[in-house]
Amino acid sequence: MISCPEIWTEFFEKYYSEELNKLAFRIMEGGDKRSIYINFTRDLLVFQEGRLGEELLEHPDVVLTHAEQGLARSTNIYGVSLDGCKPRIFSLPATKKVLIRNLRSIHISKFVAIEGIVRKVTEVRPRVVSAAFKCLECGSLSYVSQDESLLRYPNQCACGGKRFVFMPENSISVDSQRVRIQEYPENLRGGEQPQSIDVILEADIAGTVNPGDRIIVNGIVRARPRGIQQRKLTHLDLFVEGNSIEIVQQEYEEFEITEKDKEKILALARSDDIYERVVGTIAPSIYGYEDVKLAIALQLFGGVPKKLPDGTEIRGDIHILLVGDPGVAKSQLLKYVHRIAPRSIYTTGKGTTTAGLTAAAVRDEIDGRWTLEAGALVLADKGIALVDEIDKMRKEDRSALHEALEQQTISVAKAGINAILKARCALLAAANPKYGRFDRYSPIAEQIELSPTLLSRFDLIFVMTDEPNVERDRKLAEHILSIHQLGEIIEKSSSITEDLRQKVEKIEPAIDPDLFRKYIAYAKNINPVLSEEAKKKIGEYYISLRSKAKENSPVPITARQLESLVRLAEASARIRLSEIITAEDVERVTRIMEKSLAQIAVDPETGELDIDFAFAGTSKRQRDRIWTIKKIIEELEETNQHGAPEEEIIKRAESEGIEESKAREILSKLKINGEIFSPKLGFYKIVRKR
Ligand code: ADP
Ligand code: MG
Repeated sequence: MISCPEIWTEFFEKYYSEELNKLAFRIMEGGDKRSIYINFTRDLLVFQEGRLGEELLEHPDVVLTHAEQGLARSTNIYGVSLDGCKPRIFSLPATKKVLIRNLRSIHISKFVAIEGIVRKVTEVRPRVVSAAFKCLECGSLSYVSQDESLLRYPNQCACGGKRFVFMPENSISVDSQRVRIQEYPENLRGGEQPQSIDVILEADIAGTVNPGDRIIVNGIVRARPRGIQQRKLTHLDLFVEGNSIEIVQQEYEEFEITEKDKEKILALARSDDIYERVVGTIAPSIYGYEDVKLAIALQLFGGVPKKLPDGTEIRGDIHILLVGDPGVAKSQLLKYVHRIAPRSIYTTGKGTTTAGLTAAAVRDEIDGRWTLEAGALVLADKGIALVDEIDKMRKEDRSALHEALEQQTISVAKAGINAILKARCALLAAANPKYGRFDRYSPIAEQIELSPTLLSRFDLIFVMTDEPNVERDRKLAEHILSIHQLGEIIEKSSSITEDLRQKVEKIEPAIDPDLFRKYIAYAKNINPVLSEEAKKKIGEYYISLRSKAKENSPVPITARQLESLVRLAEASARIRLSEIITAEDVERVTRIMEKSLAQIAVDPETGELDIDFAFAGTSKRQRDRIWTIKKIIEELEETNQHGAPEEEIIKRAESEGIEESKAREILSKLKINGEIFSPKLGFYKIVRKR
C-alpha cells in the first residue's frame, strides 16, 4: 500500500494548494464548511498512476484516515491548522457506479458511487461522536467514542465506579441526517418496484438535499445486522456512509441519442403522417379515443415553460383528466403511457406510500425524527405523473395539489421541516363518477369528488362514456377479440397468416417505443414560438368564443384556456420538431379544445358554452335562478318581521318562471351554504355579511 499521511500531504500541496488556502481562509473567518473536494477522475487517477485512487476504493477507511491526517499536515499561506477538516471525494468514473439493485456483500466497506432520486430526508439533528460520562462515585469524566445508534457507556471508571451519567455539554457531536434514495423511475420497466437504500450524511453535507433531487452519493457501503441489542440477526441491512453528494441535472441527458437515432428522428418528423403515427404509438391495443390519444401525445411532448420579466413563471406542462364510466379503458391507457413515457411515475389516488401524491412530513417510527417524504408528483419532476382514481386521493393531497399543478411546487411547513419541493411534471389523471355512471346532464364538478378550482387546473378534460352504439360496439368487440386471439397465437409461436399479420400491424405501435422515447427527449430541446398567423388565429378563436356569450353572461372562456391553447400549440409544433407554431398547429389544438369543452362546458339545458357549468358546478341559468330567489327573499323580508314566508317565496318564484321543486331545491342549497337562515320554521332571512 502506498497510502500514508505523507503521500496525501504531497498530493494536496501539488494539486490543491489553492483550495487549501481557501479552506484556511474560511476557517479563519469562522465558517463551518470544513471540507475540501477532491476530483477523483481528474486528479486522483493521474497521481501516482492512479494507485492512491485504487487503494481508496478498496480500503476507504484506512485511506480516508490517511487523507485526513495528510490534510491536517498540509501547509497554507495563513498558517491555519486544518486539523479536523474533511476530504470529500467526488466524480468517480462511470464504471465505479453501482446500481442500488446490484449492491452485494462484495461492496461492503468499499467506496462506491450510487445514483438515485431522494425519496425521504430526516431533519438534521446532532449525533454524538464522542460521549462524555461523569462517574457517580468520584465525579471524574471519561469519554467513549460512538459509532452505533445506541449510546455506548464506559465499562468502569478509574476509581472502580460503575455508575455513570451522560454529559451532553461535554460531548462532541456532529450534524447528522438520514436520507433515502431510490432508483430512477425511468430505469424501471414493466411495473418493477423501485429499490432504495439509506444514506447517512454528516457535518456540512447534512441538510443539503431535498426530496425529489437526483443525486450521486459517493461513500462507503456499510452493513448493520437487523434487530436490536442482544437480539441481532445474521441478515444484514446495507446503508451508505455518505462522503460527498453531487446533484445531477434533471434534463433528459440519460438518453443517448446516436447519430443514427437522430437521422431516424428527423426522418420521422418530416413524414406527412407524423401526427397519425404518434397517435398510433399511444396504446394501439385500445380501440378508438383518437382525440384523447392526440391530447396525450401533445402532453408527452409538452409546451415551453416561461419566466416573465416580473418573475412570474408559466408552466409548460399540460395536465389532462379522464373522467368516465368504469371499464372504458382509462386505467389501461394510463398504464400504457407509463410504459412509453421517457420518465413517469404511476400511482393511484389512494397511493401506496405515506407521502401520497404530494409530500408528507411524518415522525419516524424508529427514532422519532421528523422525516419529509416525496410523493408521486415530486418523484415525477421533469416527467409525467400518471394518477389513477385521483378522486380517491387523501385529504392532505387535495389542498396541496392546487399549488402543485399551477406553481409546480409543494410547500411543506411542519415541525422542524420547512421545504419547497419541485414538482415540474405533467399530470395525466383518471377519475370515476361518484354515482357509478356519468350523467351528461349534470356538471362534472358535481359528479366527481374534485373541487371546481382543482378541475380548472386541467388543460383538457375528457369524458369517456360507455354508451351503447351498435357500429362502435361491433368494431370494439372485433378489436378486443382479435387481440386475445393474437396473444394466444404469438404465445404458441405458430405461423401467422396474412390476415393476422395485418391485424398485428394494427396493434403494434406505429413508432418503436425506444425510438419514441428518444424522439420526445430530443423534441424537448425545441422551443417553438408563435408565427404571426398562428397568433392571429388563436386570438380569433378566443374572441369568437367570448362573443358567443350574451350580454351579462359569464365569460365563456378565460385566460386560463388561452394559456392552455398556447401550450398545446407549442407541443404540436414540437412533434414536427418545428421552431415555429403554424396556423395548422393552432387548428389542431383548437379542435381538441373544442372537443373537450363540448363534453364538459356546454349547458345541456341551453346548449350554450359555459365554462362555469364545468368548473363552478352551476350554470348561468342556475345562477340566475339563485339570484332571483335571493331577490324575492330580500323584498319579502322588508314587510315581514319573521322573514320571508316560504309559501310566498315559492308563489313569487313560480310567477318568475321557476317551478316549485327547483325553488325548494335552491332554498335548501342556500341554507346549507349559509347564505340564508331560518329564524322561525317556514320563514327565511338573508345572512348579511358584516
Ligand atoms: P377503467 O379504468 O376505465 O374502469 P379499464 O382500463 O380497467 O377500465 O378497462 C377494462 C377492460 O376493458 C380492459 O381490459 C380494457 O382493455 C378493456 N377495454 C375497454 N375499452 C376498450 C377499448 N376501447 N379498446 C380495447 N380494450 C378496451
Ligand atoms: Mg380503472
